This record gives sequence, C-alpha cells and structure tokens, in this order.
Amino acid sequence: MRSIVAILPAAGVGSRMLADRPKQYLAVGPAGESMLEVTVASLARVAQIERILVAVSPEDPFIGALHFPARVSVLPTGGATRAETVNNTLAALKSAYPADTLVLVHDAARPLVAKEDVERLIEATLSMTADHPSGGCVLAMPVSDTVKRTNAEGELIEDIDRTRLVRVATPQCFRLDALTSALAGRPNVTDESSAVRAAGGRVRSIPSSPMNFKVTVPQDRTLARLLLTASELGEKRMQLRIGLGYDSHRLVEGRPFILGGVTIPHTLGLAGHSDADALLHAITDAILGAANCGNIGILFPDNDPAFKGADSAVLLKEAWMRVRETGNWTISNIDSVVVAQKPKLNPHVDAMRARIAEILGIEASQVSVKPKTNEKLGYEGREEGVTVHATVLLVKN
Ligand code: MG
Repeated sequence: MRSIVAILPAAGVGSRMLADRPKQYLAVGPAGESMLEVTVASLARVAQIERILVAVSPEDPFIGALHFPARVSVLPTGGATRAETVNNTLAALKSAYPADTLVLVHDAARPLVAKEDVERLIEATLSMTADHPSGGCVLAMPVSDTVKRTNAEGELIEDIDRTRLVRVATPQCFRLDALTSALAGRPNVTDESSAVRAAGGRVRSIPSSPMNFKVTVPQDRTLARLLLTASELGEKRMQLRIGLGYDSHRLVEGRPFILGGVTIPHTLGLAGHSDADALLHAITDAILGAANCGNIGILFPDNDPAFKGADSAVLLKEAWMRVRETGNWTISNIDSVVVAQKPKLNPHVDAMRARIAEILGIEASQVSVKPKTNEKLGYEGREEGVTVHATVLLVKN
C-alpha cells in the first residue's frame, strides 16, 4: 500500500485580500470556519490521504485557534517562498516516509476542491509514476473564455487557440523523491509542476471542477462563502421526517363533542381525562413521533390531575414547542382521517382545519381533515366511539 500525504503551504500573507490577516484565516465556512479549516476538511474527505501537513510560519499567531481532524499535523516549516515552504516540509517528511510516497501539494486558498477530483488525480499519478517516476499529475480547469494576448496598452494583438489551454490548479501530485530533487535549487517557482518540468519530469493535467478556484481577491471569498452555504443548505433540505398518530375515545352522554378544537352540536360527547379531542391527540402524537420525542401519554399522563379537563389545544401547542426545541423543524403538512358514524362532520371540516392551523401557527391549506362513517360496522358504526388517524411531515431548514 503506497503512502499518500498532502501538504498545504499556509505561510503566505495574501496581500491582495486587503484584510487584517492572511487570507487562509478569513472566515468562509457557513459556521464561520476559516478558509484553511474548510480546505483541510475538503482534503480529509479523501480516505487514501493518510496525513495532511499544514505548513505555517514559525511565528504564526492564528493557527493555534483552528480546529482540524486527527489526521492533520501543523508544522512550523513555512519559508519565504512557496517553494521554500514545500521544500522544508518535504525535508521533515523524508525520515518518516519512503521515497515513493505520493505527495499532494494543495493551495490553502482552494477550499472547494472536490473529493472525486482528488481521487482521480491520485489514481492518475499512481499510473503515471509507474512509468515515469520523475513525473506526476496536476488538477487543471479547461479555459472556456476566448483568449487573446494584449500589448502594454491593452490592445488585442493576438488570438490564442484555447483548445489546448488549461488553468493549472492544485493539488499537484508527485513522488516524494522526485519533488524533493525538482525543488532543490529552484526556490522561486510558483508551482510544483514548473519545477518538475524544469527538472525534466513529465506532468499530465487532470480535469478539475471549476469550483476548485483560488480565493485571491475579496469577490472570490464572497463566492466561496455563497457556494459553501448553498451546499450546506442543500444537504439540510433533504431532512424530512414523517409521523403517524392514532387515537380513539368512547362516546357518552353528558359531554360536549369536541373535535379538532371545535365544539360540534351532538347528543353524545367524547369521554376522557382531558377534553377528549381525539383529532388533536392523534396530531400531537404524529408530531411527537416524527421528531422521535415520545408520545402524548408520556408528556401529559392521564393520571396527572394537572391535565384533568385539559384543553387539548394547549397540549398540542406544548408538544409542538418541545419538538421545535430539538431542531429547527417546520410542518410541511398534516393529513387525518376521522372515523365517526355520527354526527355529520363535513360541514365542520373547514372550522377544524382553521383551528388546528391556528394552534400550530401554520396555514389551513397545510391541514387536511377527512371524515368517514364506518358503514355502521364496528364500534364506530354502532356509535360507541370515534377513531382518528393522522400523519404529519416535518421539514428541517
Ligand atoms: Mg386521546
């Protein structure tokens, strides 16, 4: 198994960002993570990379406050130029890693590098260095704009065929021994591929996603922030939870018939410890179930005198509040079936929907109530009781 390590030179000052600190320490992540932390996290998604070395200036005052995964080591190997920093870090690696170790050098300012691109780069370098140990591969973006050369006054003087042009990015991947000898005596190269080619090695370009751009000016940072926030929102958008609720209550004389928070004229009413609103109870259980927050009997025990004759609207509101405390849930919709032979419920459906929506702070259009008789079958058909089924869909934003 080949050793594969990554080096992030992070000793630069990034003066083009016009900021109070080097650009790798500016926040770009959705939770305020620094660019360096986001870039390291992107590389850490690649399982084959066994160690990530962050090379900083020995006097760096910012690095100590950052959080990295366990595979990351911070080395005080920063030099005056990028090549010097990489060189110092390779020297530190040499005693611990074999000469054929693959080294990926990656810009700290490319936080959006894609895991799949890095995996393809590693695969291509493994096959390239089998034949050409002194060579390697780099990620590069195709050029989609028309490219022309200008004179000093900005006048277009030459059309350049863009079909074979690439914009060289990072990571750049080489064997440890080849990169070490290529960089020796070349302290001013701006990227590793220039040094390797100058030393006679062959370098292949591997297509990279355009998201792997380098954060250089303030507008780049704004774009990186937007992309990172949008991708996090995209992940969250998929958080859906469904809940199921069920309840039944006996029909007795001398009680009001309360369903969906609405008192409906009838000769019988629902019996229970609280106001016995089976529809609100089923919806309460569906909401609690969707968020895995227990059930109505645990939250509001029917032997607790505090809930004797309780308004089920208060219980539903309280349960919904508890669910929201566990996460930023919203209700997508509620659907329900009420099985009752009598009274006729269709004339009261809109009032029930409006009341349920009011209790939960949602729109009536998000609430459905569907009455059913039971064709005189079973206890509902004999008018001994009422049954309710409810489902709810919760969405986390
Ligand atoms: Mg009940």
